[in-house]
Order: sequence, then structure tokens, then C-alpha cells
Amino acid sequence: MYESSVIEISRTALVNNLRFLKLRTGSGVKFCSVVKGNAYGHGLTEYISLAMECNQHYFGVYSADEAYKIVEYFEKPPEIYIMGMVDNSAVEWAVRNRIECCIFDMQRLELAVKYAKKHKTKAKIHIELETGMHRTGFEKKDIEKIAAWIKKHIKYIELVGVCTHFAGAESMANNFRIIKQIENFNHQLLHISEMGLNPAYKHAACSAAFINYPETIGNMVRIGIMQYGYWPNEETFIRFNGQKERNSKYLKRLITWKSKVMSVKFVQKGEFIGYGTSYLAHRNMKIAVVPVGYAHGYSRNLSNNGHVLVKGIKVKVVGIVNMNAISIDVTNIDDIEKGEEVVLIGTQKNKSVSVVSFSELSNQMNYEMLTRLPKDIPRVIVE
Ligand SMILES: *Cc1c(COP(=O)(O)O)cnc(C)c1O
Repeated sequence: MYESSVIEISRTALVNNLRFLKLRTGSGVKFCSVVKGNAYGHGLTEYISLAMECNQHYFGVYSADEAYKIVEYFEKPPEIYIMGMVDNSAVEWAVRNRIECCIFDMQRLELAVKYAKKHKTKAKIHIELETGMHRTGFEKKDIEKIAAWIKKHIKYIELVGVCTHFAGAESMANNFRIIKQIENFNHQLLHISEMGLNPAYKHAACSAAFINYPETIGNMVRIGIMQYGYWPNEETFIRFNGQKERNSKYLKRLITWKSKVMSVKFVQKGEFIGYGTSYLAHRNMKIAVVPVGYAHGYSRNLSNNGHVLVKGIKVKVVGIVNMNAISIDVTNIDDIEKGEEVVLIGTQKNKSVSVVSFSELSNQMNYEMLTRLPKDIPRVIVE
């Protein structure tokens, strides 16, 4: 209550993006909606509720705590896949709650089976293979041993998937490495099936791979950033869009981050505005203060640099971004009063401030900018 800004999440935009993405994956391909990082800043439970209304029922998180929040929040939780961290202490909980877990070490596999036995169920697992990212994943030399172990304990294991992750499918600069990963993955999949294991899903594609290497789609994709309306990077958009109109709209951004003018005042030419001497009024100016600052994720790098929208007009941030406030130059805007809507990210009357421009100015990539939006700013679903 009484927060100084809100983040609106557009249902229409999500419907549009899911339609675009699912058309391209094709039918019969399982769509894992990746919601780690507080659903890329969109609000974990808020986003999942909306996505479930849009007929999406399978979600990928990074760690067990995120899965736990989902299970606690929803009366009927969706299917959940933990792609990364499940501490030993969380394995029992995950198995008992039929949460899918990515497995890349023997200890976690043994624990999963131990608890599946205890609870008379099957542990739902995905086996991650090392194909060249060198982060997590079973090494090729261990695959036979692992496969034999799984076969031996198959009564307590549901082998949902076999997967890998690419080390930068968004950049052509990594092409050589990605192609090798794809080959390695296919080769190892073959090996696994020769050993008599039949995972329901074989998956490797994130957003960038899905666009740049459609052969990696297989029968499941794990899509994060694109469902929220952003391309993994500019290069991926250009590769996809080719020579066509620069502003072709396939994806729509879900987020609008809004606040309100808190105070308006006039400043004489020759006076400094805000802390220190970073901004000198070069004319008589009208300045509005907006109660959002770096404590709310509005980067300090946007000092004298960022833009916001007021009455459909793009105006500049003047002076240093404070912990809880920014000053903006509204000299040329008539009739501006306390309470006037200010858009920090998003669209207002055909003008927009994109996360990309925001991120570039603040030296962050859009993934980082989005996930840094503080959890305590309310997320509100709008049409
Ligand atoms: C984050 C993540 C994804 C989704 O990546 P996007 O680029 O946002 O589509 C897919 N798979 C794994 C393992 C991830 O960690």
C-alpha cells in the first residue's frame, strides 16, 4: 500500500507473445515458460497467475525456493521444473511434491531415488548433459554408468527429460562452439537411447537457440525473455527479421513502470539542481520530482542521462539519481501538477521508453535490468 510506483503487466501483450512463440515452436512441442529471477522482474506469482489464465501450465525456475513459493501460493500449482539449484535438504520436498528436477550429480540422483522409495512415488528428473558450456551437466565419460544406474532404479524414476544448455546462442561469434554443442548433444542422445533409456523430452533451446538454431527445438523448449516481449539481443532480432521493416512488431512488451509527479518547482538560470554541481540550470527551468530512485532499480548511471514520459512527451532526468527520487526537466510542459502520471519504462501516448534504451544508458543488459526491478514494487495486471 502507498507505494511510490507500480509495474503494470499487460495481458494483451502476453497473449500476443505466447501465440507468436507457440506458432513457431509448432504443435506437439512442450513449452516451458521460464520464470526465474522473479519472472524476469514481472513478479513470480503475478506472472504465473496471468500465464495460467492464458493456458500456460508448465514453468521453469532456477531453484527450489522459487518452486516452494509457487507451491505455497497456488491452490492448484502448475507443473514446475527446477533447472538449477536443489540443495540436498530440498530434494525430499521436491520429490514428494512431484516437482521436476534437473540432475547433474550422482548424489542428487541417489537422494531423489531414496526419497521416491520412502514416499512410494517416482522422482521426476531431467538429466543434464555436458556438451560444451562447462557449467553443470554429466560428463560424457560417465553417461554409461549413469544410464545403467537409472535403468536399475527405474521403478523410482520418471525420466522426464534429457537436456543441455548453450553457451551463448544469441551471438554468431559463438557459432562454432554452439554447433559443436548441438552435435555433442545429438550424439549423446543417440547413445542414451541405445542404452535403452527413453526420456519423454529432449530439450536444449532457450529463446536465442529457438530463433537462431531452430533445429534445437526438439520436442520441448525453455523460453524466458521472449515471452516478456524482448529479444535476447539486437543481433538475434536482426537475424530473424532480415531486411524487413526495422520496427516489425512480433513481440509486445508486458511491462509499464509508472509513478507520479510528487512536486513541481521553478529554478532560476545559474542555479545547481540536486546534489552537488552535476547539473547547472542553463535557463530558467521548471523541475518535477518523481519518487523513484536507485533504491527502486532506477540506476544511478541514468543521472543526467535517462528519459521518462510525461503527457506523452519524452523529458530528461536532470542531476543525480537519488536513492528515492529523480528530478526531471518539465520546462516545456504546460499544466503539469503534482499527481501527473510519469512513465519510467513503457509507452504513453505513442511515445515509449524501452528497457533496451534504459539498459544501454545504464550499462545493463535487458535481462539484468528487468530482474533488478525490486520485488516490492506492486505488479498489477492490466488488459
Ligand atoms: C534462463 C534459462 C533459459 C531461458 O533463457 P532465455 O534466454 O530467457 O530464453 C533456458 N534454459 C535455462 C537452463 C536457463 O537457465
